[in-house]
Amino acid sequence: MKVLVAVKRVVDYNVKVRPKSDNTDVDLANVKMSINPFCEIAVEEAVRLKEKGVATEIVAVSVGPQQAQEQLRTALALGADRAILVTTDNDLEPLAIAKCLKAVCDSESPDIILMGKQAIDGDNNQTGQMLAALAGFGQATFASEISIDAGKATVIREVDGGLQTVALNLPALVTADLRLNEPRYASLPNIMKAKKKPLDMSTPADLGVDIANRVTLLGVELPAERQAGIKVEDVATLVDKLKNEAKVIS
Ligand code: AMP
Repeated sequence: MKVLVAVKRVVDYNVKVRPKSDNTDVDLANVKMSINPFCEIAVEEAVRLKEKGVATEIVAVSVGPQQAQEQLRTALALGADRAILVTTDNDLEPLAIAKCLKAVCDSESPDIILMGKQAIDGDNNQTGQMLAALAGFGQATFASEISIDAGKATVIREVDGGLQTVALNLPALVTADLRLNEPRYASLPNIMKAKKKPLDMSTPADLGVDIANRVTLLGVELPAERQAGIKVEDVATLVDKLKNEAKVIS
């Protein structure tokens, strides 16, 4: 069984992002970039499927700048067998990314596509759903457990207020939620080995994909700063302040 795992290069989750001085976009100058955390969970799940003998090959794919090779090398160090980078310097929106991934899916014919539920840069939560629709695959989003048996995937999904279990015929697409697993760290020997694993490159034009954006980013800004809190002496002062200063009770 072949697994295709989609990996996005994003600003590292520890970085406090800032808008550019003209507020046209997020400032990415000298900012640490990493694998999107939910994609790391998807890679880990693929590796566990291979360790269980369910998967035979893991192909990691990314759409992004040349530097996204770094994140693909990390996926290779975590256990992917080979990688594909669709290079572009444009900031693509989910539909264009889904179309590029669909073209890769057509040439790779995976049995299952694993993705993150969301990329922490754009917070779109769209690419998996769009790719499943384009590929005509069944989809299970927000997965917290995946089991595969006899050509079927059974997936437990995290939904509001509980869990939902769904069964999908393969090929299928599953997006990973936070509790699916805890990703391992890449060991030094595996990081070295990953340097020799195959990483193929193509472009959206090679794949015949229209990457024109349909949405224009008008601006970004930080949320309003919260004022510092204060300590009050007693409950009476608290009630007084809530009534007369904050005016949240009457
Ligand atoms: P999003 O719809 O942007 O929140 O992203 C959801 C998931 O789609 C991510 O966790 C990735 O698995 C995949 N994805 C999004 N953008 C890319 C990209 N440029 N390259 C590879 N995978 C991507």
